Amino acid sequence: MLTISMPGAGYIGGPLGGAMLSVSGLLSGKAFCGSPAERLRYSREPRPVVVWNLTRSCALRCLHCYNDSRDRTFEGELAAEEAASVIDGLSAFGVPAIIFSGGDPLTRADIFYLAEYAGAKGIRTVLSTSGVLIDGPAARKIKEAGFSYAGVSIDGNEETNDRLRGSKGSFKKALDGIRRLKEQGIPTGIRLTLSRGNIGELPFIFDLIENEGLERGYFAHLVYSGRGNAFSREDLGYAETRAALDYIFERAAGFIEKGARKEIVTGSNDADGAYLYLKVKESDPERAEAMRRLLFGRGGNTAGVNIACIDNLGMVHADQFWQGHPLGSVRERPFGEIWKGPEPLLNALRDRKAFIKGRCSWCSFFDICGGNSRARAASAYGDFWAEDPACYLTDEEIGIRLGK
Ligand code: SF4
Repeated sequence: MLTISMPGAGYIGGPLGGAMLSVSGLLSGKAFCGSPAERLRYSREPRPVVVWNLTRSCALRCLHCYNDSRDRTFEGELAAEEAASVIDGLSAFGVPAIIFSGGDPLTRADIFYLAEYAGAKGIRTVLSTSGVLIDGPAARKIKEAGFSYAGVSIDGNEETNDRLRGSKGSFKKALDGIRRLKEQGIPTGIRLTLSRGNIGELPFIFDLIENEGLERGYFAHLVYSGRGNAFSREDLGYAETRAALDYIFERAAGFIEKGARKEIVTGSNDADGAYLYLKVKESDPERAEAMRRLLFGRGGNTAGVNIACIDNLGMVHADQFWQGHPLGSVRERPFGEIWKGPEPLLNALRDRKAFIKGRCSWCSFFDICGGNSRARAASAYGDFWAEDPACYLTDEEIGIRLGK
């Protein structure tokens, strides 16, 4: 049974990713840190965090890469000056944060200039990287560019990581990169995508977070996009998902109990919030209710509302996993104009309860889950309003009557 310490102990706060769920924040009763960026995101006129896949170039070839990135150059990617003018538009619209992602954004020499430029305009910048290109000078430049956080992808121990990431030696290089980031005093964490090939590695990853003094662990569920489509055969079954989450929750609670300033988040499966609520309810219904209120305020999956994506060619999408429905090009119109325009898909996503079908539409947790991933529904059923196939909660748990 999940045991939880006093609220607030050890939680560092500050989650940013739109599809992330801060397990540490919920367990400690501080799901939202109340920073200006968070207040802006959850205001009446929310401004999204932008995941910017600045490039599809990457030294690695991960089996589950949602962006189908690889070790080559891609024609037509935004040049530095074009990207700077996109940042002007993001700033004018009031975007609170940019997560520079890829591919590996560190394959671009202008990444430091762009991050510094965004930071000078008051936009919080986050780096999502393979970590394998972070030598000493790169770590110094990351620091000087003002990144507030760096997330490095590690998918297991050396053997498992190198197999899943398609590159021998990538574990050692990424770990060296993490240590260089830490030497520079940059808040750093590990990002892992859950699959059958690495759930046995969770204890190793949590120990790594602890032993390396990292600030965050991000455990992402698989989304069936890019190479993740073919890799979906390696996705966890429902029982495996629950077992993995039980372990993640226990270790997150353990960090809180020890007063360790670490944030544990899960991503890309908003049913996790409901599952955590149900677990806590078994032992502490009052705490669970407080948690439910926090989850309600968060609102579940917010693709197209609190999260946006710009791809390497400048096309805007509802989120980074769902790139089959481009909304417009930042080469032609400022981001804010695209985001506030009369786009039917965005309007529908902002009123998604009226459109989502199947068991999600009957679910008692809809308001805290939001129907989960539309990208996964589209991939599994060819219908992006279908129920999410990765929901591992039972009909009884979600409060639907059989035969309805
Ligand atoms: S049934 Fe749908 S809305 Fe309910 S928890 Fe599962 S994924 Fe979320």
